[in-house]
Amino acid sequence: MNALDDGDVLARYRDLFVQSPDVRAYLDGNSLGRPLIASLERVQTFLAEQWGGRLIRGWDEGWMDLPTTLGDELGRVALGAAPGQVAIGDSTTVLIYKLVRAALAARPGRTEIVIDRDNFPTDRYIVEGIAADRGLTIRWIDTDIASGVTPALVDAAVGPNTAVALFSSVAYRSGFLAEIEEITSLVRDAGALTIWDLSHSVGSVPTPLDEWGVDLAVGCGYKYLNGGPGAPAFIYVRSSLQGSLRQPIQGWLGSRTPFEMGQGYQAHPSIRSFLSGTPPVVGMLPMHDMIALIGSVGIEAVRAKSVALTRYAIELVDAYLPSARLSSPRDPHRRGGHVTIDHPRCAEIMPELWKQGIIPDFRRPDGIRLGLSPLSTSFAEVEVGVLAIRELL
Ligand SMILES: *Cc1c(COP(=O)(O)O)cnc(C)c1O
Repeated sequence: MNALDDGDVLARYRDLFVQSPDVRAYLDGNSLGRPLIASLERVQTFLAEQWGGRLIRGWDEGWMDLPTTLGDELGRVALGAAPGQVAIGDSTTVLIYKLVRAALAARPGRTEIVIDRDNFPTDRYIVEGIAADRGLTIRWIDTDIASGVTPALVDAAVGPNTAVALFSSVAYRSGFLAEIEEITSLVRDAGALTIWDLSHSVGSVPTPLDEWGVDLAVGCGYKYLNGGPGAPAFIYVRSSLQGSLRQPIQGWLGSRTPFEMGQGYQAHPSIRSFLSGTPPVVGMLPMHDMIALIGSVGIEAVRAKSVALTRYAIELVDAYLPSARLSSPRDPHRRGGHVTIDHPRCAEIMPELWKQGIIPDFRRPDGIRLGLSPLSTSFAEVEVGVLAIRELL
């Protein structure tokens, strides 16, 4: 029992998630969100009645439009995006590849890609591969591991040769929340495009993309969107850019008329042109329920609980773990939904924590990351988790 849970107006939503009897504190919802109970039924009903019952006819009854109908819904409840700019399909990794290539093609003659060294590995590896392939230069930004990309660092890195910049909204390690609007505008002033990887913010931190003038974004479906392991990711392309951007994986389902089976690719005149192959329909099912839940609670209320959870985690770390170093921002305006603490013995105690049913995760070199998914995590879990870490350290 924890008094903060008694005062939490969102506490009752925890009962909507599948419980795991052997877990005392699930502190990794930022890596893999818990399933909603509603998703159990949705998946089963889909297999029995829609797939099993409608068979191939299902494609004409809504399956084909799911990437954009669910995308619009996600845009509305979590991204501040008007319809027609969000689509779901592929992995985050593949969508980053598509957007970096599309952005480069839209800035011919420019030779540089800007990215930071603490960005998520897949983001860096994609950029390294494309740069090698195309003979381009990567302009690396070195950030403090306890913070992240700032407008000043970006300003110093972009210039007349920059084609595209790729950053994460929330740093996967420190939880640092970037100044998305200001950085996007700085990069635009240099004549380049910015791609935001929203994997660690979508569903937890509001990012009004239209209002902030964001150009391009991608994000993960299985973290705070609870889509399940390997759920497809989403892509956002600002409507005013859609006509001028071409992604490199020209497949039939991004074409204007897939079922005419015609000669020569012509891109679909919409966000669909950023898709390539058949939509991962089954993989999208659980996300429906989480998107609907975020819609009914409201993303601002979700964020308020997220801030309260991370603030509480920091208070407990200060009180009980004086030998650990807090590697996340204390300023809630610059902090996403997780908190990382560094201590030389973090790696060593992880197996014992997991054995006790305390499930955070470990991030190199020596951080334990407490991921606090707002609607499924209690304040009591945070307390149990930090106290267990204290015991073991
Ligand atoms: C989780 C995560 C990804 C995951 O990419 P996949 O293609 O799903 O493996 C990408 N970028 C960031 C910043 C992430 O946090």
